[in-house]
Amino acid sequence: MTFKRPEIIRPPSEHDSYYLPLTSGCSNNTCGFCAYSFTKLGIRDLEEVKHEIDAMYLYVNNRIIVPDQPEIVYYILRGWNGKKLFLQDGDALVYPYPKLLEALQYLNGKFPYLQRIASYATPQDILRRSVSELKTLKAQKLGILYMGVESGNDEVLEHIRKGATHDQMVEAARKVRESGMLLSVTGILGLGGVAGSEKHALETARVLTEIDPDYAGALTLTLIPGTQLYEEMENGSFQLITPFQSLQELKTMVEKSNFSNCFFSSMHASNYFAVRGRMPQDKGKMLRELDTILARRDPALLRPEFLRGL
Ligand code: SF4
Repeated sequence: MTFKRPEIIRPPSEHDSYYLPLTSGCSNNTCGFCAYSFTKLGIRDLEEVKHEIDAMYLYVNNRIIVPDQPEIVYYILRGWNGKKLFLQDGDALVYPYPKLLEALQYLNGKFPYLQRIASYATPQDILRRSVSELKTLKAQKLGILYMGVESGNDEVLEHIRKGATHDQMVEAARKVRESGMLLSVTGILGLGGVAGSEKHALETARVLTEIDPDYAGALTLTLIPGTQLYEEMENGSFQLITPFQSLQELKTMVEKSNFSNCFFSSMHASNYFAVRGRMPQDKGKMLRELDTILARRDPALLRPEFLRGL
């Protein structure tokens, strides 16, 4: 089947990367809130990946444009500084291991000055790999994995059909850290609905503490028509939390999590209010900011709905 190049969906911190697709969609396309739940996993042919890397090389070194490459390749390359590369798509770590290794080796052969390669990964993808395999990928500059934790509460994880438990996520994180790669994780405010709000926030703080990542981010649930949670909201079985309830959850996560050295942020466009800082040292400052906004309850201090993004 012909591989269809996916749209660019990437972590904010990969804004200056080249986006190289290995897959399209997500292998765990079951999560009841996620746009990837409409997708089917596509695996790109390794020769096609190498062909794109060759085209990148020709453009970067000789400004040669290969006619069969899509315009997006050159659009990205024109603004690329050659330092970072992000492997698309929803969980490129699912790409068959020997081929993934070969793709990384090929990339490094053509671009020896690349500083870091990054990928989204599901906990299941990570658990499938041994620490030694992860170390081998790290040696080929796969330097950071972005893993969606979503919640630390097993009931919520089961309800949203994440396909992984609290403990499995902690175990996946342990393997990543042992490999020497950086780990960036995200939790989603509101995933427990109104009824499960407090438990979701507390358990997410607990899983974040146990994972002790290099980066942790909070996103806010935005319901997408057609997804499981959207349908449940429509039929009344799932109640969306209010913007101030999302900030209460954020406060609980910040307050109850303990990190050895983590950059924590709620800068993502889906959030109603942004705090960020290095933990543990900035925890007090972040909590004071959240206490102030929660005490004032002034909607004018929140990001307006029309400026929120996924
Ligand atoms: S594993 Fe991640 S990308 Fe895949 S469907 Fe679930 S939330 Fe979406």
